[in-house]
Amino acid sequence: MKISGVGALGLMMVPRMAFAARNSIRSVRTGVQPGNKTRLVIETAVRPTYSLTFPDGQLIVRLPNTAVNQITPKMAGGTLINSIGFSQSGDAAQIIVNLKCLSIQKPQTMILEPNGDTEYRLVLDFAAGTGATAAKTAGTSAAANNKSTTSAPASKKYTIVIDAGHGGKDPGCIGKGGTKEKTVVLAVAKKLKTKLDAAGFKTYLTRSDDTYLKLAERASIAERRKGDLFISLHANANPSRAMKGFSIYTLSEKASDEEAKKLAESENAADKIDVDGFSDFSKDIRIALSALQQHAVAEMSEEYAASCAKVFRNSGIEAQPGAKVRHAPFAVLRSTVPGALVELGHLSNASEEKLLKSDSHQNKLVTAIVRSVKNYNFDV
Ligand SMILES: [Zn+2]
Repeated sequence: MKISGVGALGLMMVPRMAFAARNSIRSVRTGVQPGNKTRLVIETAVRPTYSLTFPDGQLIVRLPNTAVNQITPKMAGGTLINSIGFSQSGDAAQIIVNLKCLSIQKPQTMILEPNGDTEYRLVLDFAAGTGATAAKTAGTSAAANNKSTTSAPASKKYTIVIDAGHGGKDPGCIGKGGTKEKTVVLAVAKKLKTKLDAAGFKTYLTRSDDTYLKLAERASIAERRKGDLFISLHANANPSRAMKGFSIYTLSEKASDEEAKKLAESENAADKIDVDGFSDFSKDIRIALSALQQHAVAEMSEEYAASCAKVFRNSGIEAQPGAKVRHAPFAVLRSTVPGALVELGHLSNASEEKLLKSDSHQNKLVTAIVRSVKNYNFDV
């Protein structure tokens, strides 16, 4: 017998003779992700292989060649998971996830490398299904890593939180003709709500009248309403009265350019009107998220903002010169809900001030935003 056969024979025989698992489960935890998704994280000592099955009301994760340890899963509130049990089935560990719903959509999965004090992590994100789960078995890691191409069931209503900037004692910027930002953005927000409702979305306004709201309150409304997408509407002012066009922003701790930085400062300054409001800045909801979750929210926001900018341009809405999507530390975007801040145009420009006041231009803006929301892939 040649030496080359020994390795394979040895590997094959070890589990039969005496079960010596190569892998072990170090921890299991759950969490909530944007889009009403539940996240299940399984930490293992070495890179896991796995398969998934979906009996009614359950998700079973099978990890071959893995020992079940004494583990108490860390359970977060608000997930689709009732309880988690473990069993040893031959050389495989089975994680039995008891669901609050009958079925789930095929989970998105990823395996993360150890990072600092973490182990290998098998991450599964999933949303509630309609009962007709397409795939009963989602294969091994390679197959399951492919993003699900099945679209969400029509019955799932996505929630859009629309934020009309400023309000009450805070007028926002004011055009030469006297047009106030708070008035224009509220009119657009209301029109947007009507059209999104008609398109089958579930919508909430952070304010529906001329009231002052702190920025942190707006962000927390997005959280409370479990928004899938947050859109904050504003209009801009520039020292140069010639400056025109819309611009779109996502949250970043570092501004993408000097102008974006100044804009965030002026939008954030709304809270300086209210001393109490400014102290709320320390309660940064997004900081409570793990780096991985922050990354996911930022990516989804970026994707929405880029597609929104594209739809605006394709709709013939004039764009402000410069980058398509910019970034700055806007307080109103500090939440776990993906979203963007849209500066609809410049009130400091005489012709754009007229446009922003007009019903027809407001409708044009609303139609473009509705299209951008429809284009957005809520399931990624
Ligand atoms: Zn504003």
